[in-house]
Parts: sequence; structure tokens; C-alpha cells
Amino acid sequence: MDIKLDEISHSYGSVEVLRNISLTIQQGQIVCLVGPSGCGKSTLLRFIGGLERPTKGEVLQIGSPPKGSLNPLTYVFQHFALLPWRTVEGNIRLVLEGHKLSRGETDAIIRDVLGRTRLTDFAMALPKQLSGGMKQRVAIARALAVRPAVMLMDEPLSALDSQTRELLMDDLVDLWTRQPFTSVYVTHNLNEAVRLGHRIVVLSRRPGRVHKEMQIDMPLSQRRLGDPLLEAKQAELWELMRDEAMAADQELVNG
Ligand code: ADP
Ligand code: MG
Repeated sequence: MDIKLDEISHSYGSVEVLRNISLTIQQGQIVCLVGPSGCGKSTLLRFIGGLERPTKGEVLQIGSPPKGSLNPLTYVFQHFALLPWRTVEGNIRLVLEGHKLSRGETDAIIRDVLGRTRLTDFAMALPKQLSGGMKQRVAIARALAVRPAVMLMDEPLSALDSQTRELLMDDLVDLWTRQPFTSVYVTHNLNEAVRLGHRIVVLSRRPGRVHKEMQIDMPLSQRRLGDPLLEAKQAELWELMRDEAMAADQELVNG
């Protein structure tokens, strides 16, 4: 299933947040959305997920979700959102409850996503026993369990330290390489964007507009930390963003 954003504009009261965003997210691709703080990235993700409606324009779903999809548009947030009293396994089971699945089908899905995220040995652990990185793996496993058409990831690695972030980026690359998924991946970290994005969309500061789009053809599995081509892409992104980021920063300071 592709997602098409058709001329989306949005204001909260008198504050214009997004202006005329048109974009297609192709099935099987990770599209990274970068832009200065407050430019409307999370807002745009909420529109894609159908949690809110834009003032103008539409979000269109083209084609059908994967067979057996229980929730076509599924979120992964920065702060994991795990239930503390449920085990890893129990947190994943939660999103499968209320669907017409047999016990056997449910167990098979849980086994599959635990395996794919290398959490099998932690199935019975409680969230408080896990590091931040492991918690986010659980959140990713839980998102995969519903067979989403598109994973909407809002700064999923931003709460993690830089080593853990590296490990999780490797995991995401592995996961995608074994079984491609579709994602709109919001980040303000340009390194994440060049490591994970098939396409990178740079938004301007508020009101967010599409400032520039970049495509990176190098397969995800070949993208290494410190790769010269990726470093050049990252520098190019920073050139595009610096003035906008600075202006956005000033705006916040001046209220
Ligand atoms: P980003 O994720 O890029 O940092 P957001 O989408 O969270 O930006 O927010 C964009 C702008 O919209 C900000 O100025 C924010 O204060 C404002 N905003 C976000 N949500 C609401 C809301 N529910 N009501 C009013 N203003 C909001
Ligand atoms: Mg945000």
C-alpha cells in the first residue's frame, strides 16, 4: 500500500503549521522526514495515521494493506509506551487481543516477531528489567505484530544513547533487509536519516513545507558508519537545514 499526501496544509488556530505538503510514500521504502523542531513533523505523522485531520488536503491510501494486517497504520514512539505490569510477550499479545485470532495464530505471530527482533530469550521479562534499547525493540516487535502497511516512527531512537542508537539502526537495517517494511520515519538526527532512508524529505521551519527531497540508492545493508558517500549526504542535508534550524531556534527563544 502506498500513501499519498495531497496538498496538505494545517493551522492550529492562527498558527500555520504545515503548508501545501504533497508526497508519496512507496510501499517497501523508508521515507525519513527531517526538519527543525516545531516544523510539524509529528503533526504530519498524526495526519497519516488518521489521528487528526488537516485543515486542507487529503491523505490517500493507494492499494491494500498486507494480507492479514490487523492495523494498517501503526506507530512507534520515542517513549516506548509499554505496559509496565505486562511481560515482553504480554505487551505484544495485547495488540493481538480483540482480533479474530486463535490462540495458536497469536502464539505464532508472537514467536515470529520476537525472533525477528532477537527478543526470544526475553519473552518473560518485564519492561523495568530491560534497557532503553531493549524496550524499543519490544515496541518495534509489537508494531510488526499487527502487520502494518506503514510504520509511523516518531523519533524512535531519540531517547537512546548513541551506542544503543547504532545497535538499533543495525537492527532496523537487518529487519528491513530480511523483510522490507514501509515506514515514515521522523527524526532530527541526520545520521539516522542517511543510514535508514531510501528517501529523505527535508521540511522547512514552520510552516513546514517540502524544502528538498533526497534519494539514496545505496542498499541499506551496505551503509556503514563513516561511509564517505553517506557523510557527504549528511553534510548536504545539514547545509540545507542549518539556516532553517537556526531561525527556528531563534523563534523559540523569542517566544
Ligand atoms: P515537530 O514534531 O516537527 O517538532 P509538531 O508537529 O509537534 O512539530 O508541532 C508543530 C507546531 O504545531 C508547533 O508549533 C506546536 O507547538 C504546534 N502544535 C502541535 N500540536 C498542537 C495542538 N494540538 N494544538 C496546538 N498547537 C499544536
Ligand atoms: Mg515531533
